[in-house]
Amino acid sequence: MSRVYNFAPGPAALPLPALERAAKELVEFGGAGMSVMEMSHRSKMYLEIFDRVKSRFNQLMGVPDGYTTLLLQGGATQQFAAVPLNLLGEGDSAAYVDSGNFAHGAISEAKKYGAVVIAGDGSADKYTYIPNVDASGLAGCKYLHITTNNTVYGTRWPALPSKESVPESIPLVADMSSNILSETYDVSQFGVIYAGAQKNIGPAGLTVVIVRNDLLGSARKSCPKVMNWKLQADNDSMLNTPPCYAIYMAGLCLDWLDEQGGVKGIESVNVEKARLLYEAIDESRLFGNPVKPVDRSRMNVVFTTGSADKDDAFCKSAAKAGLVNLKGHRVVGGMRASIYNAMPIEGVKSLIEFMRRFEKDNP
Ligand SMILES: *Cc1c(COP(=O)(O)O)cnc(C)c1O
Repeated sequence: MSRVYNFAPGPAALPLPALERAAKELVEFGGAGMSVMEMSHRSKMYLEIFDRVKSRFNQLMGVPDGYTTLLLQGGATQQFAAVPLNLLGEGDSAAYVDSGNFAHGAISEAKKYGAVVIAGDGSADKYTYIPNVDASGLAGCKYLHITTNNTVYGTRWPALPSKESVPESIPLVADMSSNILSETYDVSQFGVIYAGAQKNIGPAGLTVVIVRNDLLGSARKSCPKVMNWKLQADNDSMLNTPPCYAIYMAGLCLDWLDEQGGVKGIESVNVEKARLLYEAIDESRLFGNPVKPVDRSRMNVVFTTGSADKDDAFCKSAAKAGLVNLKGHRVVGGMRASIYNAMPIEGVKSLIEFMRRFEKDNP
């Protein structure tokens, strides 16, 4: 077996122990005579898997009473539409912070269903920082939407919007796709959290939505039923077939995370991984990172030599050395190392070593 260090932004690397366990259980799970993939989602055995995964997630995330966790299909992109469909009545407005391309995608979807107030815009400076929240237009908005980590531009909210700038009555809705479970968040600060699983939870196909219970039940009539959080909550996420195998696989990844000391444990590793990599970039004379230091992401580290040809050569030779998927997003160019929970610190150290060698050979 030969495994590389995979710096892909998503779908991303998964913990090896989770993959190995899945391999063992692939053909037959727990004496059932069949694979988890072949089980009815209503069977006793599958429901046990489902309930365990949900409670493990709630435990790791610290989801308090008064919130409902949904395990759905459709990706974060489907939630871009589900959020306004569940929270905005006809003629209502919502506030969004435009902090990068995914935030922008959420805004475009919301505009189909209501009026959007832009409460912060980082586009002028190519999204290299987290904009301040402008409270002036927030009155009357049904929620404020933020993207806690901007996967493409490599930025992260260093703190949530302050209580002074956002009235208590306006729930905070967060797309947490690329940094959920990588650092501790106080769920009670949010009205809704959603995330596609394929960065920090498990494989693609599963989408997690955490909703404060008082925000269930306001969906507009035209909301498709599979996107209606209240209907999904009433049916324990099984209004239709859930992404059964992705949920099982996420469970194996969450068990691994629990063994790492949970979110607190992995957070300290993530802080150290990011610190080492940014330090190497800042010390280098070849590589640079354009992001305002306090807003740097711990999950997606963007860097460039400033020359498209050199960046290309770097990615190609890194791949030959077993460091793969380092090419940056097409809108940013350069390189991006996605260093989610499952990327071990040894992978980051190998990358740094390789960067130093490349710089020496290509001054
Ligand atoms: C990857 C990503 C998305 C898109 O997720 P899908 O599951 O592919 O729909 C949305 N938002 C953020 C922040 C992401 O990183």
